[in-house]
Parts: sequence; structure tokens; C-alpha cells
Amino acid sequence: MNIPWRNDAAGGVHMPDLVETYPVVLSHGQGARVWDVNGRAYLDFLAGYGAVNQGHAHPRLVAAMTRQVKRLTMIPRVFHHDQAAAFYQRLSRITGYGQAVLMNSGAEAVETAIKLARRWGYVHKGIAKDRAEVLVFDGNFHGRTLAAVGLSASPKVRRHFGPHLPGVQRASYGDLDAASRRMGPTICAVLVEAVQGQGGVVVPPADFLPGLRALCDQHQCLLMVDEVQAGLGRTGHFFAFQHSQIRPDVVILGKSLAGGMLPVSAVVADPKVMAVWDVGSHGSTFGGNPLACALAYEALGVIEDERLVQRAADLGAHLQQRLAPLLGKHGVTAVRSLGLWAGIQLVTQRSARELCARLVAQGLLVDATGQNTIRLSPPLVIEQSQLDAGLDRLIAILQDGGNGKGARCS
Ligand SMILES: *Cc1c(COP(=O)(O)O)cnc(C)c1O
Repeated sequence: MNIPWRNDAAGGVHMPDLVETYPVVLSHGQGARVWDVNGRAYLDFLAGYGAVNQGHAHPRLVAAMTRQVKRLTMIPRVFHHDQAAAFYQRLSRITGYGQAVLMNSGAEAVETAIKLARRWGYVHKGIAKDRAEVLVFDGNFHGRTLAAVGLSASPKVRRHFGPHLPGVQRASYGDLDAASRRMGPTICAVLVEAVQGQGGVVVPPADFLPGLRALCDQHQCLLMVDEVQAGLGRTGHFFAFQHSQIRPDVVILGKSLAGGMLPVSAVVADPKVMAVWDVGSHGSTFGGNPLACALAYEALGVIEDERLVQRAADLGAHLQQRLAPLLGKHGVTAVRSLGLWAGIQLVTQRSARELCARLVAQGLLVDATGQNTIRLSPPLVIEQSQLDAGLDRLIAILQDGGNGKGARCS
């Protein structure tokens, strides 16, 4: 496929190669389907890495977006607007927390949570000035800002970007003993993904989050769960931490919070935790603007009214049933999943990226992540027939050694 702006000779607009792209130029989408500029259809098994759980161009979100665009999109935060109350109430009812700080990207929300935790540590735990530390885990992904890459353990993510954020302790994901050894008087918070998405859909042992909850109680620090990718229905619960029956002190949301139409993220917590903010201590030009609130209100409404959480659980059970037989065959070394979310890990001799490229050519949008893992995270609105069509293709390509001759799946 000719991608004109990537053609040096054409003298077009240039983007640096920050990711390894597939030769596909997409133009529009609807639900779990997207089309390229040549009119070819694809099934979307990525949903913007979980930013489009409600599906592409959801009519209700399109309506909310266009309605609000014509009314009011941006005001300075020193004024109130009429879209805030309904959204905050809905968010509060769904999450069970009384306050939220609205930001834009997930990474911004992560940084906001770290600021909150540090301040909380100085005010409530009495940590000595500039000594506060946050405990994070190997394999984490919390975004790409300077602070967020400082949390990462990945050399690829960190290399030549130092000096990195100080005050970070790291332990192996899922290892409570290691976490326990890092706890101490300078730790203000534990920041953890309930499931590591970018890491390859890594589901921790069942006792991990409850164990972290207990450690945080014991050592007086905040348990902050990054639900940017795992939250909002993906795992068959509204929030992935609900599988563990724990209540974090701070929950970080993003991605599908505005149905893929705007970057909207949030840090939610109880008022007594949020009380450490004071006037002038934090801000964001676009955070919590009228358009974001109107859209996020509707995006949460779609998840509730269309029962997408239950849908993720039901379709997820089907997905897991179909993937389970693959384990140990066709170079599949692990199948990890929770809800409508799966990671299929391959032996290193087989390239997940290569298989994904073949699948994309056959009309299935997938991508590799983590350690040679194919990540599946379709929109939660996907039809079961569409899910099956995509899985048929995936299984066929795994079985025939990657030849994958056959009809497009879409
Ligand atoms: C995607 C992601 C982020 C970063 O979100 P951005 O909007 O890309 O900044 C943070 N945490 C997790 C768990 C994510 O999956």
C-alpha cells in the first residue's frame, strides 16, 4: 500500500517512526468494524488498546459530542459549567468514591495520582521532606511522560531519557514478599495495575491485590490502582480490582472514559484523601471541560445501559473457551485472559508481530505486546459472530504455521 506521507521522495509530512506500523490507512469505523481508504473492512480486536470499549462512532456518543460542541466546549477552570454535576454524580455512583480530579491523558492522571500520594505522605504519614517514595512493579505501563517512564522497568522505555523520577521503588509483579520487603516509612503509595495490559494481559495471583491492600493498611500508605486499560468493563467487572473484592484508596481511569472520542482521564478517591489538594496545587487547561464531561457522562451511560460489563463477562467466557485448547500447541506457551481481554504468548522462535501482520492483512486488527504476546481486546459491543469470525482467523493462522490462506474474516 502506498502511504504517501511516509514517502520521502514525495516530500510529504513526516512523522518519526515511534512505533512499527502496519501498512493500513484507516478511514472510518462503526461498532467493532473499521474500514480503510480502499473500502476494505476489518474487525477491530484492539479497540484503541481499550479506549473504544463502546465501539466506534457510537450513535449516542456522536449525538452527545455534536450537541455539546455547538453549546460550549472550553472554559477556564475558575468558572463552573452545567455539564459537571451530572457527570461527577454518575462517576461517583459507579465508582463509589466521592471526588475526582479530571485530566486528559492516562499518563497525566497517573502523575496526578503520584502528586496526590506524595502530598498525602508528607501531610498524613509525616514523611521527611522530599523523601516520599512510590512502589511500582516490573512490567508496568503507566504512560510515556517523564514521570511515567521513570516508573517503567523497561530499558526500551527508559533509555537515554534520564535522569529519571526519583522516589521510585520496584518489585516483581505478583510477588507479595518482594513488595513487603520494599515497604517502609518513606513509601507513600503502592501504584499497581489490576491486570498488566501493555505487559501482555498479565493477571496476578488472586491474593496479590488483597495482599497489597493489607500491606498498605499496615504501613499507612495509599493503594492506587491504575485502571486506565483494565477498567470500565473490560474484565467483566466495572473495575478489574473488583475481582479481588478490595477497595483501593485511589483509582485511575482513562481510555474509554470518553468512548475514544476525546482524551479524558480521572483520579478518583474519597474526599478525606483528596483533602490534601489546596488552591493552586494542581491544574489542567483542558481537564474537566464541558465537552469532556458531556461526553464522559454519556460514555459511562452507554456502558451501563447496554450492560457492557456483563457482555464482557459473557463474551469473555466464550473467548476463553475458544482459546484454552491452543495452549501448548502451535507455539502457544501461555494464554492469559480476564473478561473480554486476552494475551496469547508465543515461543520466542515464533514472532507474534509477524503473525499480527498476517492477521491484519486478512482483516483482523491485532497487535503484539509484552513478551511476544498477541493482545486481544475487542470493543465490548462486538457481536459474538464477529468475535468468532476473528477467532477463526486467528486460530487458523496459528495452526497452519502462519500461512493463513483463506478468506478475510470481516
Ligand atoms: C494506556 C495506559 C496509560 C497511559 O494512558 P495515555 O492516555 O496513553 O497517557 C496508563 N496506564 C495504563 C495501565 C495504560 O494502559
